[in-house]
Amino acid sequence: MVQALADEQQRQRYFGRLAAAPTHTFFALTEPAKGSAALELETTLTPAPGGGWLLNGAKCYIGNGARAQLGVVFCRRAPGPWGIEAVLLDTSAPGFSGELLPTVGLRGARISRLRFQDVAVAPEDLLGADRSPSRRGLYGATYILYRFRPGIAAMALGCAQAACDYLRTHRATLPRQDRHRLDGVLDRIAAVRHRTYAVAAAVDAGVVDVAGIGAVKARAARVAEDATRLVAELLGPASLIEHPWLEKTYRDVRAFELMEGTTNLHTMAAFQSLLRSRTALQPAAQRAVDGAARH
Ligand SMILES: Cc1cc2nc3c(=O)[nH]c(=O)nc-3n(C[C@H](O)[C@H](O)[C@H](O)COP(=O)(O)OP(=O)(O)OC[C@H]3O[C@@H](n4cnc5c(N)ncnc54)[C@H](O)[C@@H]3O)c2cc1C
Repeated sequence: MVQALADEQQRQRYFGRLAAAPTHTFFALTEPAKGSAALELETTLTPAPGGGWLLNGAKCYIGNGARAQLGVVFCRRAPGPWGIEAVLLDTSAPGFSGELLPTVGLRGARISRLRFQDVAVAPEDLLGADRSPSRRGLYGATYILYRFRPGIAAMALGCAQAACDYLRTHRATLPRQDRHRLDGVLDRIAAVRHRTYAVAAAVDAGVVDVAGIGAVKARAARVAEDATRLVAELLGPASLIEHPWLEKTYRDVRAFELMEGTTNLHTMAAFQSLLRSRTALQPAAQRAVDGAARH
């Protein structure tokens, strides 16, 4: 977010602090009642009587939130998508509180709930204040989320591959039918990895294929779940007790479905993109049909 939106002074302040001492940071978009519907976020940024702003609201499922010293909070200054802003927040500010949520997986991610009660936000903490509303806030969120998704896909694929490797280490031979099932999952991992490299390379080249990125993230999350489930099954009925590493991975990979948008949302985005491309093709296709009819 800071790379994408901050002005020079904000960058220097932020990276200077990171360089000075080990610092945990967070990215707070999701709210208790607004997860997938992030555009409807309700945390408010209102003018403070003496100048600057006041931040009020709550965030949920924020990685590192309760132990961070610094973070970015998305909030609403006005109605509509362009009324969304991103502010830099120091967690020592009065009115900020964070609590660790109890989770059964990904304990190291320190998933937290955050609350803001009249937290003062100085004008210089509004990220990208010199940009137009359509080039900050929401723009920054999407800029980051699209670029993070291939990374989430890569993590999910790494877990899927590791689970399959674990099985091969602990079961040197498998009955033929089970070998075929494992090969099927390994083929899917290879296919999604290939697509993940492709969308990531496109991002590096400046092309953001939103639907393609969402598709690899959704596919990778699914194959990670399927791989851990298959490996647990093939290692026998007590596998999750006898293999603590597998049990941890089996729990952790379920988070990939939720991080950075759920499969339902990515499926809808892919479908809408398909519809748009079909609509865009229609006039040309119609001309071809008309031309053929004339001849
Ligand atoms: C490990 C982990 C780390 C996270 N870290 C962060 C973080 O650092 N910062 C942050 O801001 N957020 C973070 N999140 C939150 C994450 O982005 C949300 O969990 C995610 O956006 C889903 O929101 P939700 O949990 O409220 O689920 P909901 O949005 O309530 O969805 C619940 C179910 O309803 C479905 N659904 C919702 N809307 C629709 C629709 N319109 N059509 C069809 N189906 C729909 C979803 O697909 C899902 O199956 C993290 C989550 C996890 C699991």
